Amino acid sequence: MFYADYHTHSSFSSDSDTPMEENIKKAISLGLKEIAATDHIDFDYPDPDYPFLFDYEPYSKEIDRLREKYGNKIKILKGVEIGIQNHVMPQISELVKNNQYDFIIGSTHVVQDGLDLCVNDFFESKDQQQAYEEYFEEVLYNVEHYDFFNVYGHIDFVNRYGNYGNKKIDYARMAPITDKIFKTLIEKEKGIEINTSGYRYGVGGPHPAFELIKRYHDLGGKIITVGSDTHKPEQMTYKFDIAYKMLKEAGFEYITVFDNKTPSFVKAF
Ligand SMILES: [Zn+2]
Ligand SMILES: [Zn+2]
Repeated sequence: MFYADYHTHSSFSSDSDTPMEENIKKAISLGLKEIAATDHIDFDYPDPDYPFLFDYEPYSKEIDRLREKYGNKIKILKGVEIGIQNHVMPQISELVKNNQYDFIIGSTHVVQDGLDLCVNDFFESKDQQQAYEEYFEEVLYNVEHYDFFNVYGHIDFVNRYGNYGNKKIDYARMAPITDKIFKTLIEKEKGIEINTSGYRYGVGGPHPAFELIKRYHDLGGKIITVGSDTHKPEQMTYKFDIAYKMLKEAGFEYITVFDNKTPSFVKAF
């Protein structure tokens, strides 16, 4: 039995058709104690077919309605997954100042102010190591400069994209950057997530890979949530058995949950 899914999308995200209520019902049927709704907000997302914006008020109202209906069975968090780009930081600051979220994932979906990782522009004319390094350098910049999020989303997911024939990040070679990212997060009392969607994207493991989960732990990392990044109910808690096993093997004794942006720790395995 799994405790919580802390990365879920519903039809408030422009890339999902799932009514939020379906997610809640699915979560209850799986025996989860908590679910975080973390729909997408990506200001100035470069693909006009996916605006990734929604108004807070109907979102908040829908979650209040579902809390009313299912609150005795499951705790529902008002979360959000915010895509970081430097030039939209003023909008992000306004968003988080004016609205009440329980839990915020900060993610890099678009690099260098406008290059969508899903399309190949960013990877063109770069070798694999160079592209990955530039991605992690940008994540490092973000964790050093911004504080609005609780955990950083799918932190190594750059290997999902790019036409390189293999999906391998050389973690040893990347360590000077990834260690700095983790040390900064730890110092600022921010965390990471284990995002199991990597399995669906052919990466062969979660984001981040076990090497990074272990390294984060060994550097003193404590805050770590587990999420499926579900866009369809059947994806909820996918491969959580392996994620929990990895947490344990890395030395964690708990998963992290949030309340009003404050972490606490639950023995879930
Ligand atoms: Zn994401
Ligand atoms: Zn997501």
